[in-house]
Amino acid sequence: MATEETTSTASGGGPNASNGDASDGAITGALGIAAPESRFTLELSQDQKDIRDWVHGFAEDVVRPAGAEWDEREEFPWPIVQEAAKIGLYGLEGIAQFWADPSGLSFPIVNEELFWGDAGIGMSIFGTTLAVAGIYGSGTPEQLAEWVPQCFGTPGDAQLGAFCASEPDAGSDVSGYRTTAKYDEAKDEWLINGQKAWATNGGIANVHVVIAAVDRELGARGHAAFVIPPGTKGLEQGAKVKKHGIRASHTADVHLDDVRVPGSCLLGGKEKLDERLARAREGQSSKGQAAMRTFELSRPTVGAQAVGIARAAYEYALDYAKERHAFGRRIIENQAIAFALADMKMEIDAARLLVWRAAWMGRTGKDFTAAEGSMSKLKAGEVAVWATERAIQILGGNGYSREFPVERMHRDAKIYTIFEGTSEIQRLVISRAISGLQIK
Ligand SMILES: Cc1cc2nc3c(=O)[nH]c(=O)nc-3n(C[C@H](O)[C@H](O)[C@H](O)COP(=O)(O)OP(=O)(O)OC[C@H]3O[C@@H](n4cnc5c(N)ncnc54)[C@H](O)[C@@H]3O)c2cc1C
Repeated sequence: MATEETTSTASGGGPNASNGDASDGAITGALGIAAPESRFTLELSQDQKDIRDWVHGFAEDVVRPAGAEWDEREEFPWPIVQEAAKIGLYGLEGIAQFWADPSGLSFPIVNEELFWGDAGIGMSIFGTTLAVAGIYGSGTPEQLAEWVPQCFGTPGDAQLGAFCASEPDAGSDVSGYRTTAKYDEAKDEWLINGQKAWATNGGIANVHVVIAAVDRELGARGHAAFVIPPGTKGLEQGAKVKKHGIRASHTADVHLDDVRVPGSCLLGGKEKLDERLARAREGQSSKGQAAMRTFELSRPTVGAQAVGIARAAYEYALDYAKERHAFGRRIIENQAIAFALADMKMEIDAARLLVWRAAWMGRTGKDFTAAEGSMSKLKAGEVAVWATERAIQILGGNGYSREFPVERMHRDAKIYTIFEGTSEIQRLVISRAISGLQIK
């Protein structure tokens, strides 16, 4: 990539750049550099623009107007999820269409637009994708084909998926999971016991993806991911969490008491697991653990959601600052306000660029050598918290009132420095990646 950028600049970026006419060839020929194929662009394709505008329309017409109500009710917004399913935004087809984009940008674009509408409802619509990412991260093609459709249900009968990794005593420290999975060879079944915490859609999902320890002595390397099929006995929702933000989204404990699932519910299959455990027991290095792989896949998408919230607050504050008068002038005419808005715009754009880079890297199979996925989520989460707080400040007393949406956006934004790895954990991941050391 560096080489491509260097050669692009040499051939076309200077003051005498000739927009691809015949002299380009002469210049590059004279310099002994082959004319490059210019593959770098931030210009969205027509498909990407169409998808963006379609999701934005739904966010503006359906999601945004309902945000305050479902936040107050603290209930799962089933009617809106069903509407999203009917139009194909929620469901296998939609996800497949977004994922098909070879640049990887459609998925973050869709997330940004939806969460621009409202994050609580956005999470209710897209929380399932965490379970889907879990299946995708560890499952075989057959398992993907069997379980992903069941996570979504059908357009007329929407269902949910839940990804259950965190536990009451182990969130950041995944090596501390106590949920166990034991293999019953005679019956070719897995017996799973434990308690999961904070599961988005936990207990109300059709399909639960559960991370459990097969060999606790191996810490995170002894984990495996299991699908718990709909209606499995022994899986029950525990306490539903009352939250600070994204209150429409359902978050709950999940209890697993003597849950029995067929051997085929082990994602990736027994043979692969046995090989992985054997390598871990011999002390050989591994490419990653089940839960961490899932998080790495989904971080840019989560970052895009945070960008959507930040942009919503910024746009609201910008409009407000142009309307609101104090001391005989519009408040935006004060540098203190205008500069705050300038900084908000700049930081949001910077966050989006990191998100797009990471999404592109993920989709095109690049190695995240500097933990670019974590970078994007870290930056976007922190920008969202900061920008929504700035928006409250710009609205003054109104910003602090539930009559205006920015206080909700601020509450919603805060989760983005906590879930999918806290900001501290993202910094650990990045610092380990760039140093090659086990930073503590
Ligand atoms: C609304 C919501 C939805 C969620 N959805 C899901 C879900 O669907 N599935 C799921 O599995 N989980 C989910 N989670 C759980 C979430 O991922 C965890 O809360 C998160 O990983 C943090 O774990 P913890 O809460 O146990 O905090 P802890 O790990 O106890 O951390 C507490 C504090 O200590 C810091 N800390 C910990 N270790 C270090 C260290 N080594 N260095 C520096 N600082 C450190 C943390 O950054 C944090 O500030 C959700 C959580 C919430 C709130």
